[in-house]
Amino acid sequence: MPRVDVAVLGAGIVGTAVALHLVKRGVSVALVDRGGVGEATSYGNAGIIEGNTIFPPAFPSDWNELIRIALKRSPVANYHLAFLPQIAPWLSAFRAAARPERLLETARTMRPLFARAVSEHEALCAEAGAAQYLRHAGWLKLYRSDRSFAATTREREVAAEFGIANVPLDRDAALALEPSLNPVFRHAVHWQGAVSVSNPLALTRAYAARFAALGGTILSGDAHTLHRLHPHWRVETAAGPLDADEAVMTLGPWAPDVLEPLGVKLPLAVKRGYHRHFRPHGNAVLDRPVLDADNGYVLAPMEQGIRLTTGVEFAPRDAPPTPAQLAHVLPLARELFALGAAVEAQPWLGARPCFPDSRPVISRAPGLNGLWLAYGHAHWGLTLAAATGRLIVEMMTGATPFCDPAPYDAGRFAK
Ligand SMILES: Cc1cc2nc3c(=O)[nH]c(=O)nc-3n(C[C@H](O)[C@H](O)[C@H](O)COP(=O)(O)OP(=O)(O)OC[C@H]3O[C@@H](n4cnc5c(N)ncnc54)[C@H](O)[C@@H]3O)c2cc1C
Repeated sequence: MPRVDVAVLGAGIVGTAVALHLVKRGVSVALVDRGGVGEATSYGNAGIIEGNTIFPPAFPSDWNELIRIALKRSPVANYHLAFLPQIAPWLSAFRAAARPERLLETARTMRPLFARAVSEHEALCAEAGAAQYLRHAGWLKLYRSDRSFAATTREREVAAEFGIANVPLDRDAALALEPSLNPVFRHAVHWQGAVSVSNPLALTRAYAARFAALGGTILSGDAHTLHRLHPHWRVETAAGPLDADEAVMTLGPWAPDVLEPLGVKLPLAVKRGYHRHFRPHGNAVLDRPVLDADNGYVLAPMEQGIRLTTGVEFAPRDAPPTPAQLAHVLPLARELFALGAAVEAQPWLGARPCFPDSRPVISRAPGLNGLWLAYGHAHWGLTLAAATGRLIVEMMTGATPFCDPAPYDAGRFAK
């Protein structure tokens, strides 16, 4: 029967980074997943390591935008009507977190994690032989109207306060950076410090390979079987029952399925999102991810093609795909960039695991000895994975945490 110090449950980018940080400190670790490493949510993101993030995407304060969303005319957000009663309490808390003073508080409490996002990935990539997946070209946000660009003023003021590089560009200057774009926008902001990943799956696999090379074990198993078998945590795996002194829950959008039966109920919801790859026409190239801010989609250059990712969809996590937003933005994306044929027959669907205050939980599980939580990274699971791994492992091993973990404590929802 395998026995380890720590079982990490969920081998997305977050769990894999946590497991790698643990094994680097000499802890014996098994990383358990019911599927393949990095093949769930962490497969399909836009690949942006957004250390520059200031404000989270917030509940719209503009009635016109809200009405457009309600009428399903905005590609930024979609919803399943029958799901609204179920998601209403979460949306109400999300709306409360969109007040200007709360957004500023979020920007400040999240800053220590975002500030470490890029450097922590660079360090892990260097040792995992994965530096070739990192592109140090920033990312470009485009604005089709003066109004949408003007709405970025506060964000850029706070960025200046935090010392985060960003350069407002007129259309010509943006086209000089990305000559294959068509001039359908009026303004741009280049967030120079952001780094992007050309293949998020390969990155997670590289971290997992490094973990294994340092003595970590990767096992197939279902976290639903997790239970306390004093003094251990036990989970059933293909290699037999695995006993661990401690366990870390890194199941992303699936964490509530396992935590709620154990008595831990935290307000996680999912914001679903889609992607599809397209071959570029002719010689068209993108050197960095590009956001069409007015329409909520990203074009991200990936090894598989140009990845078109959508805004958010409020729907049950496991409901069948309804990729209306992809259909809505595709003509807009084609107007901006010469997208050719689709690579896959069907779009990919993923679920961003989100708490209403847009902060992850990185803490002990309330009331359960030896169980730790690292999930709910919303729009920034790739961005924050490596920094999260460092922080939780410093907490678990009694080292001094590189930042105050209190804002990420699960207990904040009990207040
Ligand atoms: C369209 C889209 C674009 C995005 N763009 C970005 C971006 O540019 N930058 C960024 O930082 N973030 C982005 N994100 C968010 C990011 O992808 C997620 O926050 C991140 O992938 C979450 O990682 P995770 O490891 O927590 O979850 P996951 O990757 O979902 O990993 C959870 C793991 O748990 C496993 N699991 C589930 N249930 C069980 C079980 N019962 N037993 C065992 N294993 C189980 C799953 O198989 C999975 O491997 C985007 C998301 C979407 C949808």
